[in-house]
Amino acid sequence: MTARIIDGNALSARVRGEIAERAAALTARGVQPCLAVILVGENPASAVYVRNKVSACEKAGIRSLRLDYAADVAPAEVMAKLAELNADPAVHGILVQLPLPPQFDEAAVLEAISVTKDVDGFHAENVGRLSQNQEAFLPCTPHGVMKMFEAEGVTLAGAEAVVIGRSNIVGKPMAMLLTNAGATVTVCHSKTRDLLFHTRRADILVAAIGKPRFVTGDMIKPGATVIDVGINRLPDGKLCGDVDFESSKDVAGLITPVPGGVGPMTITMLLENTVISADRAARAAGK
Ligand code: NDP
Repeated sequence: MTARIIDGNALSARVRGEIAERAAALTARGVQPCLAVILVGENPASAVYVRNKVSACEKAGIRSLRLDYAADVAPAEVMAKLAELNADPAVHGILVQLPLPPQFDEAAVLEAISVTKDVDGFHAENVGRLSQNQEAFLPCTPHGVMKMFEAEGVTLAGAEAVVIGRSNIVGKPMAMLLTNAGATVTVCHSKTRDLLFHTRRADILVAAIGKPRFVTGDMIKPGATVIDVGINRLPDGKLCGDVDFESSKDVAGLITPVPGGVGPMTITMLLENTVISADRAARAAGK
């Protein structure tokens, strides 16, 4: 058996087409969606992510404001800018690229973003709303994975789902979204005693570990849906995921590749959140 491959590029292109139409309609009503992106320092991976986000905005007809700061900037300067952006009615989404340099308290920065403009979904209030299954801006990567499940008709209610990774940006919100959708969820991490026991009984296995090709075919239940969130740069410069695609593709029923899987969906969901926020602003302004 060979797994069906989930094409994240194709799904992403389709959803971005819909987002571009919504952005154009909002612009015609006098409210062009606008995302402000803050980058502090010169982390090369962060610079690539920010460039990709800004370029995706342009292609979807979303205005972007890019704000770059030196690595040694005083946190107060960035906080003052956040207050200004929060108050600016023309800005609908605010994103601070993580990680931040050591002089910053990341949690304090994320909480300084207005909840109504928190399109990354990392503000504690949005996280709390998600945990209560209330409407919230959802974190982009796990939200993108949920879109994939929906597009592929994966049954979540009653499924055994295992998430490897418990980070605030991927593992934990992924587990909450799956719980809200009715899956029985197990969250594994570096302290998990018998990882194999958990992964081998998973109908849905999500890998968000940050270790190249960590999940191998022998760890997967035959026919399972395997989602690879990992993005790892190999010494030869190539990208690979947290799942060993070669040994897994003949065991899984459905699998995401890297690149071309979850990655493009993450930016797509950021664009969607920005358009949702702009739509709310337009309605509030009676437009
Ligand atoms: P973190 O490093 O924050 O979290 C990794 C998690 O994996 C931790 O919970 C850690 O456990 C767990 N882990 C590490 N080693 C093991 C092990 N041997 N066995 C079981 N669990 C283990 O990473 P992120 O969540 O930020 O990212 C995960 C991956 O996803 C990375 O490759 C990242 O590049 C990628 N990523 C991709 C995105 C996309 O758009 N596709 C977006 C964001 C991230 P513990 O908590 O105990 O340390």
